[in-house]
Amino acid sequence: MDKTMKTKIDAINSRLSEKPREPLGFFPTPLHRLDCLSELLDVNLYMKRDDFSGRSLFGGNKIRKLEYLIGDAKQKQCEYVFTYGASQSNHAMQTVTACRRAGLKPVLYLVALVPVREEDIRANLLLDKIMGAEIHIIEKLPEETEEDAENRSFALAKEQIARLESAGHRCYDIPMGGADPIGSAAFVGGYVEMLTQMDALSLTPDYIFHGTGTGGTLAGLVAGKLASGSKADIVSINVSHKTDEYRTQVAALSNETLKVLGIDAQVTKDDLHTDLNYYAPGYEMPNEAASEAIRLLASTEGILTDPVYTGKAFAGMLDYIRSGKVPKGSTIVFWHTGGATALFAEKEILGSSLY
Ligand SMILES: *Cc1c(COP(=O)(O)O)cnc(C)c1O
Repeated sequence: MDKTMKTKIDAINSRLSEKPREPLGFFPTPLHRLDCLSELLDVNLYMKRDDFSGRSLFGGNKIRKLEYLIGDAKQKQCEYVFTYGASQSNHAMQTVTACRRAGLKPVLYLVALVPVREEDIRANLLLDKIMGAEIHIIEKLPEETEEDAENRSFALAKEQIARLESAGHRCYDIPMGGADPIGSAAFVGGYVEMLTQMDALSLTPDYIFHGTGTGGTLAGLVAGKLASGSKADIVSINVSHKTDEYRTQVAALSNETLKVLGIDAQVTKDDLHTDLNYYAPGYEMPNEAASEAIRLLASTEGILTDPVYTGKAFAGMLDYIRSGKVPKGSTIVFWHTGGATALFAEKEILGSSLY
């Protein structure tokens, strides 16, 4: 990389090092080439292994965010950490691992998008239980939308937080996915970590692919891209339905993140390349292209992805390559954000075409 970029990356790392950070994982995460798939697809394909971030066997992108979020919680001398998600939320499970390591008490408010069967608890929800988290399951009522049920879970948590705080306990509230400026700042660091690793291999990425949900990861990645002067095209595959508002909101989060770090750059919604073509029929609902992508990666490289996030993102990337939207010979980084515990989740999430 040129000297200007190197100076910018040093400045970003120096701003990040001023933030409180709880060591929860193993960083930098590995970055390596996918030799078999690169040959098969006629591209130069690398993988950034944020699935290897964690202390438990099951890491993921939330660990990166949680190092700063839990760092902030400890600095504020909190005792409880509240967070939210679906009953099989990776973020919630990783928050529990983080809290256990840091000596904080995790409280989860989880919306059951897929019915929770008490006699057959699986995957992340099982891990949450083994780690002894306080778990509140919110059943979605027939007349409620997903969003209604989520809002109800936030309101219930708010009441509990008020009760605890009036009794003298400090609570730290982490939004779904850890998508706030402190969490996203971690991915500004993640982006320059990846650039530095690629540079050590004398490479510059042309494309970055990843799955986007709450947008916290994307907000950080795009902030990192603009702040470092990188020219890579970040292609963010949506894993759930979003309106046009999504890019506006993520750009706003990106700018707040840059502000928290005191970095002078501006993100607009046109800097965000999201793609809604691969999530159908919905969040936590399997599709055939994702199953094919999971099987292809597993059978060529022995690497596991999941049906909710990384499998759909990988399917999107395969389609971009096969259709020529990404030219042959391109240097691509696929960001593995974790989530493979979903392979052991309920059948509704897994789908039947993987076995
Ligand atoms: C949460 C999650 C994502 C999406 O990250 P956001 O920051 O919420 O957009 C992608 N992959 C996996 C496995 C996740 O758990």
